[in-house]
Amino acid sequence: MKVSMLPDELVWAEGGHASDVALSTMADGQTAILPERVVQHVQACSTCTQHLGHAALLSLHVAKEIAAVAEHDRALATARRPLPRLAIALGLGVALLALVPTLLDPSSALSSLGNAALLARILRSVAAAALSPSSALGLLLTYGTSAALVVSALVVVKLLPKKEVSS
Ligand SMILES: [Zn+2]
Repeated sequence: MKVSMLPDELVWAEGGHASDVALSTMADGQTAILPERVVQHVQACSTCTQHLGHAALLSLHVAKEIAAVAEHDRALATARRPLPRLAIALGLGVALLALVPTLLDPSSALSSLGNAALLARILRSVAAAALSPSSALGLLLTYGTSAALVVSALVVVKLLPKKEVSS
């Protein structure tokens, strides 16, 4: 494969030395895209060799930083993942417990139909959030729907006696 070379005006700096672009390209081991004359100059010139050393150290440092950030993200992702599942399980448990009295009482069949529809809607949004548990939005949705589950379960519990009294 033919690799296109960096143009001369990019690889040469003032005083006939190699430019920062050329030095950082060499530091990254991309000598294939550098004109041969620049590489030969850097190898022969002590000023450029010294700068190349700095560029190489910087390149190494950046690579280390990127690796550290990636490692940090992985650690966060694995540490966070179990939590939403617990919240979902707790939320669903509370919601189901709240539905039990309605489902067992045949006189409030109409309201249990409404509750079942509500539960189905909540389950659907939880499932949608659970599909992307690693993304920040997915995490937010998961916590949000879990909180909504608990709140709606509490609302159902509070509304139940009133409905039975009025009917
Ligand atoms: Zn030089």
